Amino acid sequence: MDVSTPLTGGMPRWPDDPEVRIEAQEHAACRVTTLSMSAHTGTHVDAPRHYFPSGAGVDEIPLEATIGRARVVAARLLPTCDPQCGERLLLKTGGDDLTADAARFLVERGVRTIGVDSLSVGGDDVHRTLLSAGVVIIEGLDLSAIEFGEYDLICLPLKIAGADGAPARAILRAR
Ligand SMILES: [Zn+2]
Repeated sequence: MDVSTPLTGGMPRWPDDPEVRIEAQEHAACRVTTLSMSAHTGTHVDAPRHYFPSGAGVDEIPLEATIGRARVVAARLLPTCDPQCGERLLLKTGGDDLTADAARFLVERGVRTIGVDSLSVGGDDVHRTLLSAGVVIIEGLDLSAIEFGEYDLICLPLKIAGADGAPARAILRAR
């Protein structure tokens, strides 16, 4: 199941980000599309460098952080879903930001990766808490058609050298 958000011109973005532009140019023999957008548009991965200048770039995030077993849970039920060390958790947020307490709880549990179905996992404090602890963040997933449960996640951020984030294609495979 594809859980990526389609990239389209004029799609929702952060107010500070440039408008998403996807423009096809007709050449003599073919068509070539040019993209212009923030790396934090649609489904994307946040790297530590997003908040920490000397933190790892998105190209340095280990592949296993975003590939492997994952669990889809409701963010509001986080305390009861018993997050495990090394787990990849994908949260149906209902549009709510993660709280600072929830972020600290996830770090204490040693969660490997947090994915959310909103454009942002939360505020600056939530990003800092997760990224400083090495938790990889996936934002902008489309989990609307996905049931709670266990899946195999394959999420591949573009290999943009040294970047603070990158758009990604993300899929879930039923286990
Ligand atoms: Zn981001």
